[in-house]
Amino acid sequence: MTKKVALVTGGSRGIGKAVATQLAKDGFYVLVNYLSNKIAAGETLNEIHQLGGEGKTIQFDVANREQVENALTNWKNSNEGRIIEILINNAGIRRDNLFIWTEPEQWDQVIQTNLNSIYYVTRHLIQDMILNKFGRIVNIVSLSGLKGMAGQVNYSAAKAGVVGATKALAQEVGKKNITVNAVAPGFIRTEMTQDLDEGMLKKLVPLNRFGTAEEVADLVSFLVSDRSAYITGEVISINGGLYT
Ligand code: NDP
Repeated sequence: MTKKVALVTGGSRGIGKAVATQLAKDGFYVLVNYLSNKIAAGETLNEIHQLGGEGKTIQFDVANREQVENALTNWKNSNEGRIIEILINNAGIRRDNLFIWTEPEQWDQVIQTNLNSIYYVTRHLIQDMILNKFGRIVNIVSLSGLKGMAGQVNYSAAKAGVVGATKALAQEVGKKNITVNAVAPGFIRTEMTQDLDEGMLKKLVPLNRFGTAEEVADLVSFLVSDRSAYITGEVISINGGLYT
């Protein structure tokens, strides 16, 4: 049987990499999207192959509508009859600053990459999912988008926007057997958080540690599986008890 195709945006590193390899283990054909880190994306694909999985790397900037359209159209044209049924909107960036000092570029880049990208990628793929009467969409948001985080007004706004989009889209496409959920991590050990003082910050976490990308990947794996078929429009936190 042909494997279902899963696209993981930002699959070259961090949480996206863990999700990509987990979905390959789960039996999906995985498209590993990346922005500029071709080597890291290639390493993710190598790991997928070593696990006996299948996939391909696919370069595009999720923040650039034209690149998203071109890359996904090209993929479809060269893979006739196949459609992307699983979408993990994971790519994201931080450009932290106190709001009063936030530069227009810091605001725009974060909104473009973390929020507008959801529209570009999902809008492109949803039509096929609707015709197919099946789809699984998981948006990686953040604790910051739920409680708000000082120094991250731009990031909190973008992630909170994705939470709203998740809930609204879930209502639009539920009848077509498409589920749309969000996963909201707290502190997860990746390159994005390597500049944070883990020793100090972990004291805020009831479980007294940062989470791992693999733990987030397990949750995403569940949300795209048949075991979660009746869950949609939800935001599921994975934060060691930091905030509920
Ligand atoms: P990393 O910085 O470790 O990795 C970011 C990934 O996103 C890379 O694969 C990068 O590609 C890709 N990426 C960045 N910008 C773009 C773009 N414009 N187009 C395509 N790909 C892009 O991040 P994390 O793994 O930590 O974060 C993943 C997601 O989880 C993000 O949405 C983040 O906001 C969220 N999150 C993370 C938390 C954490 O504690 N780490 C906590 C809460 C949420 P490349 O390798 O080419 O640069």
